[in-house]
Amino acid sequence: MNTIHHGFWTYFIFRKQIHLVKYFVFGSILPDIVYYIMFLYMAIRYPIEENSFELHSIVHQMFDHPLVIVLRQLGHSIPVWLVLMIITIVLTRWRLSPWKAILYGWLGHIIIDLLTHVEDAVPLLYPLNDYIVRGPISYWDPDFYGREFSIIHSIFFVAAIVYLIVERVKLKKSKK
Ligand SMILES: [Zn+2]
Repeated sequence: MNTIHHGFWTYFIFRKQIHLVKYFVFGSILPDIVYYIMFLYMAIRYPIEENSFELHSIVHQMFDHPLVIVLRQLGHSIPVWLVLMIITIVLTRWRLSPWKAILYGWLGHIIIDLLTHVEDAVPLLYPLNDYIVRGPISYWDPDFYGREFSIIHSIFFVAAIVYLIVERVKLKKSKK
């Protein structure tokens, strides 16, 4: 799924955890942050005047960069997440801490991507093995219901935004 949508839905679900919501949201975009950093880096390295700046080709180069491939796989891996979670539980027990909120947001990202990536799915158990679990639908690929997903997702997305606005307005009224 889109990074921004990961963040939005995580915010929507955890918004009542007022002190921790930002950590949940940060965790939910964490596995994709490497793309943005690398994109900026490449855009600066291969600037417009060299005439090689083409958005499409930079995006492709970025996804093919060995460092991006490794970080992407580490970020979308269950074993990596599990190891960090076990260390966190050993250190902080079961209490819901900011770091745990980051990890839960992160897990949500892995699960949603598992369901919404087909051809571009990554090995779930990386680096233990390279078996790829392909999701039932793709969030973008028209060959795997990408268009239908996009339409249905947009409806839910707009409905959720309206819901949040109504909620805000009601809260403001009740405070008066
Ligand atoms: Zn992702």
